Amino acid sequence: MSAARGKPPRLLASSSLWAAGTAELHRRTERVREAGAFLIGRTGPRGSRIEKFLFYDDVDPTCFRRGIVEFDGRKLGQVWEHCRATGAKVIADVHVHPGGYGQSESDRHNPIIAAVGHIALILPNFAAGRPVPGRIGMYEYAGSRQWFDHSLEGRRFFRVGVWPW
Ligand SMILES: [Zn+2]
Repeated sequence: MSAARGKPPRLLASSSLWAAGTAELHRRTERVREAGAFLIGRTGPRGSRIEKFLFYDDVDPTCFRRGIVEFDGRKLGQVWEHCRATGAKVIADVHVHPGGYGQSESDRHNPIIAAVGHIALILPNFAAGRPVPGRIGMYEYAGSRQWFDHSLEGRRFFRVGVWPW
């Protein structure tokens, strides 16, 4: 059955969750600063499903004080606490750039979560105009400041919409 439908994507999100989360990121930028969120969810045999955007500045209010992401790692405990309480986990993170979706040197060298296999998404243009896979950056941490770039895989890597479980 799965062969007929092709390889499942690594990441999944419902259209409504993705639209609401990215619209909120866009709103928080006020077109003058970056914004970002932990993407919380669950991993099953058919990929990881995003269930919630946990916004960086809700955990660390000073995160964007200088306009770019500078998340205080000491606040990560609150994120793990949230995950413990809900039985979910951080399956990816997302942040917004003013311009293109390529990784900055800081993005490559300072992953928010430096675990091999962790996925970092980057939305271009302050997340304006409904960003979707195919037009966003999708990077997988390989360790030692190295990343796999999945951006061109588009919806084969990250499916927004329905996937038959
Ligand atoms: Zn960045």
